[in-house]
Amino acid sequence: MSWDELLVVEDTAEKTTFADLGLSERMLEKITAKGYKYPSAIQAGVIPLLLRGEKDIIGQAQTGTGKTAAFALPILERLDTKSNDIQTLILAPTRELAIQVADEIKSFADVGTKIQLLYGGQNVRDELMGLKRNPQIVVGTPGRVIDHLTKRRSLRIENLKYFVLDEADEMLNIGFKEDIEEIIEYTPKEKKVLLFSATMPKGIQDIVHRYIKDHDTVTIERKELTNENIEQKCYKVRESDKFEALCRVIEVEFDFYGILFCKTKLDVDDVAAKLMSRGYKVEGIHGDIDQKQREKTLARFKSGAIKILVATDVAARGIDVNNLTHVINYSLPDNPEVYTHRIGRTGRAGNKGEAISFVSRKDARMLSWIERVIKKRIAVEKLPEIYEVIEFKKKRLLDNTKGLIEGEEGLEYTDLAKDLLELGSPELVLAAVLQEGYGKEFSTTHYNELKEDDFRGSERSGGERGYSGVAGQRRLFVAKGRLDGFNPGNLIQFLEQEIGGKLGDVGTIDILREFSFINLQDEDADHVLRVFKKKNTQKPLVTEAKQKSSGGGERRNFSGNRGWWRGFSGGRGGFNRDRGESRGGGYRGRR
Ligand code: AMP
Repeated sequence: MSWDELLVVEDTAEKTTFADLGLSERMLEKITAKGYKYPSAIQAGVIPLLLRGEKDIIGQAQTGTGKTAAFALPILERLDTKSNDIQTLILAPTRELAIQVADEIKSFADVGTKIQLLYGGQNVRDELMGLKRNPQIVVGTPGRVIDHLTKRRSLRIENLKYFVLDEADEMLNIGFKEDIEEIIEYTPKEKKVLLFSATMPKGIQDIVHRYIKDHDTVTIERKELTNENIEQKCYKVRESDKFEALCRVIEVEFDFYGILFCKTKLDVDDVAAKLMSRGYKVEGIHGDIDQKQREKTLARFKSGAIKILVATDVAARGIDVNNLTHVINYSLPDNPEVYTHRIGRTGRAGNKGEAISFVSRKDARMLSWIERVIKKRIAVEKLPEIYEVIEFKKKRLLDNTKGLIEGEEGLEYTDLAKDLLELGSPELVLAAVLQEGYGKEFSTTHYNELKEDDFRGSERSGGERGYSGVAGQRRLFVAKGRLDGFNPGNLIQFLEQEIGGKLGDVGTIDILREFSFINLQDEDADHVLRVFKKKNTQKPLVTEAKQKSSGGGERRNFSGNRGWWRGFSGGRGGFNRDRGESRGGGYRGRR
């Protein structure tokens, strides 16, 4: 499936699902259990081809695109778990990748599936024992695989059905070309070769020429992922509060000029109409609006007559405006490629841009996936409070009024002003005019309260385990807090003293009145828990954090991560302390 096709699928309510790809019910259940909702582009492209089983496959895709599941799912579907033959051999450039691939496969495999890892640095004796247990799938690095094939003769791959080269360009970079070619000589003629590579340098083309005959190619275009000019952030909101949240965010921006992406045409119509009724210069476009109208809208948007364009992915295709200040994901797209494509509309031509996503509980997994793909954390910001929005609007009114008074041109309504001032004191008259002109805009009654969707108990919070939300870190509860004289610095000191050693990287720390939380690296967390358990088996002072608290505490962020599942989102208070600074006139949220 091409990029364009993928986008089309996005917009038509008939999104590609895993079921569409021809996978079995059993596998679909596993996919759902794993939390994958929609296939990624490489999965949508590769899985049906591989299930059809007619040709070899070349997949041009990088890590993070979901390529492992793209080949693993069909391979597992076709696996004979009763057979004693190695049916699949997967070569990966590094042991880390090999382990990752094996883990991903295991997570979808049926009971009885035996997967053996072979990589340098691992005890060969263990590998030999593993191979004796007749695995059906072997994942390894080329050097060690050659070792088993040629020196030890412990690996038999003459009945192989699938030969997978994962990250082939990396393997060539490391210098595994000859090893790979030698391994291929041991494979049977009747097998499928699957080659995945982010790039297609000459070395890869040579391999394709020599060893891959009739094949399909699936190419996943990777957009520029880390455009430093785009500031990415998100707000966690309940679905029902999204519109209110959106208004707050837009209202505290001086010069908002951007595209707002919605999932469905209905959403586009709904959000555009509501924004319009709030007085914004906005229009919506989607596939049901005729071409002429769409072109008109686009022309108005390009000219700046419309400041907000509400759109579906397909309708926004081809929009080429260089000075957009914002891209808003009113809903997250169904896969990371579309996300990067969307946000790439801002931060162009050297301009700064902001990409803002509204995420509700159901988007938590998608957000993690996007973060893994873009290899970046998306900062969670606190929504502006009602009073902040009002303050901001008042300030804007003051600035604009000052500008008009100091401006060169004369003002239009001086005669009317004189008449009005006849009616009462200047203060009273102005108050009446403001009320007439602005209605309830400066009143809190104009806004709805909204609550943060704090995802408690969702996959992001990690359930019972002290999950910190940061890979490799765990969140610990310490039954001592501010009242016991703790601050982030001496909490670390205290823990180090107790374990008699240094802690590695420390994550978020939250010191509350009577207790605290600290995010530690996995091994450190284990060590600390062990020590405190030994001291008091019944009621240890430090335990695994079960769930997040919602109070604000003194917090210090050692990892640079913030809020939400990465720690607390902080309490309501302390606006002054945390107050968002202004940059370019706009409110930028708390940081
Ligand atoms: P890969 O490119 O295979 O290394 O995958 C990158 C990450 O995306 C892995 O952590 C996968 O678990 C995850 N992933 C792969 N496919 C999906 C999907 N369809 N939905 C959500 N996450 C996925």
